[in-house]
Amino acid sequence: MSYDIKIVGGNIVDGTGAPGYRGDVGISGGRVVALGAAPDDAKTVIDATGRVVCPGFVDIHTHYDAQVLWDRMVTISPWHGVTTAVVGNCGFGIAPTRPDHRRLILQTLENVEGMSLEALEAGLGSDWGFETFPEYLDAIERHGMAINLGVLLGHTPLRMYVMGEDAVERAATPEEVARMRDLVREGLEAGAVGFSTSKAVTHWGYHGKPVPSRLAEIDEIEELSSPVGEVGGMLQVNVGPGFYLKELAPIARRTGRQISWTAMLTGLFGPGGHRKQLDRTAELAEEGINIIPQVACRPLNFEFQFEAPFPFEAMPMFAELGAGTRSERMAKYADPAWRQKVRDNLIPVLHGWTDRTTIAVYEADPALEERPLAEVARERGVDPTDLAFDMALATDLKARFRTAVLNTDEEAIGEMLHDPNTVLGLSDAGAHASQLCDACFSTHLLSYWVREKGVLTIEQGVRALTSRPAEVFGITDRGTLALDVPADVVVFDPATVGAAPIKRVYDLPGGADRLQSDAVGIDAVIVNGTLLRRAGVDQVDPEGALPGRLLRRGRASEPGRLAAE
Ligand SMILES: [Zn+2]
Repeated sequence: MSYDIKIVGGNIVDGTGAPGYRGDVGISGGRVVALGAAPDDAKTVIDATGRVVCPGFVDIHTHYDAQVLWDRMVTISPWHGVTTAVVGNCGFGIAPTRPDHRRLILQTLENVEGMSLEALEAGLGSDWGFETFPEYLDAIERHGMAINLGVLLGHTPLRMYVMGEDAVERAATPEEVARMRDLVREGLEAGAVGFSTSKAVTHWGYHGKPVPSRLAEIDEIEELSSPVGEVGGMLQVNVGPGFYLKELAPIARRTGRQISWTAMLTGLFGPGGHRKQLDRTAELAEEGINIIPQVACRPLNFEFQFEAPFPFEAMPMFAELGAGTRSERMAKYADPAWRQKVRDNLIPVLHGWTDRTTIAVYEADPALEERPLAEVARERGVDPTDLAFDMALATDLKARFRTAVLNTDEEAIGEMLHDPNTVLGLSDAGAHASQLCDACFSTHLLSYWVREKGVLTIEQGVRALTSRPAEVFGITDRGTLALDVPADVVVFDPATVGAAPIKRVYDLPGGADRLQSDAVGIDAVIVNGTLLRRAGVDQVDPEGALPGRLLRRGRASEPGRLAAE
């Protein structure tokens, strides 16, 4: 026979954590057909001498739900070796949505996930072409995409769909809960990989209101989780007040399914507090209850403007500004008494924020860009909080600051990455596009935590990027390199792999900006046997046939086939 693609002489790291070995990989018909030895000819031969050959990376925490409809290449994830992404996280998504609610749903994404409303509206147009969740799945499948997608059904659009604008005001009636439960079941049967929800205090939606899922009582969440137990799938949740291990354990017990929660970051639980959480997680795992914390391998750096300062919006005094006008907001920022109240009422994650803040964009004086806020304040003999607000006001709130909010304790991060009960996630790719870019988490893990720090071996690093996230999210046909699996493969140079510094580009629909990082050292990315990228260059026509598949219920299948199974 002859292979479509043959990768020769690489160090094969199969994603299971097993030791790498030198060998060849043969790919035909979209599958791995030879592993170790691949003696036959091939149309395309990739020399992988000195390189690692491994399964494509799985990014379980993205928000590409809308972007995939205008950007079939799902940039920038595949640049960094990601071949499978999960969307619909944190209870968000764009289906089911009635035409009347489209703008409110997009405004919710604008507020909570820092997406540009103009980009969303320009990208989706006025006729989305779907209303229900099954119609959305069909739409993205028809539309096509460069990488594989698994889709969670989000509580927030579901609640809007059933309750209308009451979804952001009140608890659901038993009839509404029953209707939502039926739709969750329908979504799972159509191919959702699970159900997602959020009680996070940082999740503020349109008109400064909490997102719909935050209004749900625990009973409602329990009810909506029950189809996952019956049909299959998993639960992804953003924890919040009154919604943590104590409430999650009975749901996991009753459904018998895995719950992955967002996110265990250092700094959330006080110094060393993560240890207690990991211990409790391990105890539950011993009882067979899998409540899996998502951990992140990068500090959570936010770039923000004070017109919508996401890191501060967990503080009620900032959240309430969302309901007012821009000039009311600016008046508060100018008021010394209000500023003092900010200093006095900082939430724990913002303690000392001025010492972890860089001036990112300041058009009034570009010489200050990339300088530490505290240092400039010292030079000028002013208070750094005053300086930040003065800079914001001097630029009509356009000045940008970058603050490391969480996940800065490297020792603790190393411990969490090693813990057998965690999963690596939280890239938030597609969201917070103008504020942060962690879509490059995969190349960062391999460069920083594997090569530079030596905290993970290459095999452990690859497993954290492949089979582990796949198993937690019930993605059954991805995550390992083995004979006859779909050929999602990455070839990278362990000596150079990494994420380039973040840059700002203006390539979203309507010219909106986002942050991007180029990948370094990624030689080849193969999706379902198609060479998608080589040496950092796309190898497919973005307007033509694309190799990504919709992973209905966690695996690729022909549309409509599941119904017959
Ligand atoms: Zn998210």
